[in-house]
Amino acid sequence: MTDKTEKEDIRSLLPEELSEAVKSMGEPAFRAKQIFKWLSAPVDGFEDMTNLPKSLREKLGQRFTLYRPVVERKQTSALDGTVKYLWRLADGNHVESVVMRYEHGNTVCVSSEVGCPMGCAFCASTIGGKVRNLTAAEILDQVIYAQADSGLHISNIVLMGIGEPLDNFDNVMRFLKLVNDPNGMNIGMRHISLSTCGLVEKIDKLAQYDLQLTLSVSLHAPDDETRSKIMPVNRAYNVDTLLDACRRYFRRTGRRISFEYAMIRDVNDTPYHAKLLAEKLAGTGSHVNLIPLNEVPESKLRPSTPETVRSFIATLEEKNINVTVRRKLGPDIEASCGQLRREREKR
Ligand code: SAH
Repeated sequence: MTDKTEKEDIRSLLPEELSEAVKSMGEPAFRAKQIFKWLSAPVDGFEDMTNLPKSLREKLGQRFTLYRPVVERKQTSALDGTVKYLWRLADGNHVESVVMRYEHGNTVCVSSEVGCPMGCAFCASTIGGKVRNLTAAEILDQVIYAQADSGLHISNIVLMGIGEPLDNFDNVMRFLKLVNDPNGMNIGMRHISLSTCGLVEKIDKLAQYDLQLTLSVSLHAPDDETRSKIMPVNRAYNVDTLLDACRRYFRRTGRRISFEYAMIRDVNDTPYHAKLLAEKLAGTGSHVNLIPLNEVPESKLRPSTPETVRSFIATLEEKNINVTVRRKLGPDIEASCGQLRREREKR
C-alpha cells in the first residue's frame, strides 16, 4: 500500500509528460503513445499492456502506480436504467458517479473531491466537509470504469458529483485535457459541463482557457439574504459579484451560462424570488435549470410543491427567461449525489 502514495499514478500524466518519462527510461517515442492509449482502457495493471515488452512493463511498474477503483456498491434503476456507483479509492476513501441514459447519449456525472468544503445547506456531499482533492487520474477513472462496468458507451460528462470542481482547479483542468485527448477517451469539450457554486476568481481563471465546455452555476437564489442562508459561499462572493463574473465569462468565451436552481419550499420559491431572478438574468440569454430538491435526511429543507414550481416557471417565461425542469432520474435509487457515500461513512 505504501506504493500507492509514494509513486505517481501514471493516469494523471499528460501525453507530453508521459513522453518525457518514456524518453528518460531510454525507450523509443512511439511507446508513449501506446501506453497512453492503454491508459484510457479498463486495464488491471501494466501486465495487461500486451504490446509492450515485458521489461518495459516492469520498469513502468517500478516507477508508477496504475490503480483502478473498486465498485463498493452499484444500484441500477429499474425505471430508467440510471446506474449509480460508489467507488472505493486506493486509500479507502469513497466517491460516487452516476451514469444517466439520455436520448442525446449516455452521460456520466463524476465527483471531483472526497467530500466538499462549500457547506450548502441542502447538499449531502458537504456534511462531513472536505477530505481531499481527487487526482486527475481518480476523476478520469470514474469515466473509464463506469463505461466498462455499465457497458454503456459514454459520450457526455458532467462535473456535478461530490465536490466543488473549481476548488480542485489544477487537477480538474488536467482531467479535462486527458479526457478530451484524441488518443484518449476523445470526449469533446462541447459534451462536457462543469458546475460551480460560484468561486468568482476561479470563474475568471477558467475563462482565460477559452474552453468550449458548458459552465453551470449553482445560483439557487437571486438575492443575498436568501442565498447566504443556503450557500455560505455567497458571503464571500455575493449574487451581483457572481453575475458580473458570469457576464465576463460569456464575453470572453461566447458560451452561455446555465444557472441551476433547486426549488426549496418556502425558501427560494416565492413570486418575489421568481421576479427578481427574471430581472437579474434579463437580456443575458442564459438558461435556468430548475431542479426538484432531493430530500437529504439530515436537512429540514423540503422540495417545492408542483403548483409552486409551475407558477415559478410561468413567471420566468413571461419575462422571456429560458427555463427547463430537470427530469428526476433514478427515483428508485436515490441517485442524488453524496447520499451513498454518506451512508457508507455513517457505518
Ligand atoms: N459544487 C458544484 C458541483 C456539485 S453539486 C456546484 O455547487 O455546482 C451539483 C448540483 O446539484 C449543484 O447545482 C447543487 O447545488 C445541486 N444539489 C446539491 N444537493 C442537492 C439536492 N439535495 N437537491 C437538488 N440539487 C442539489
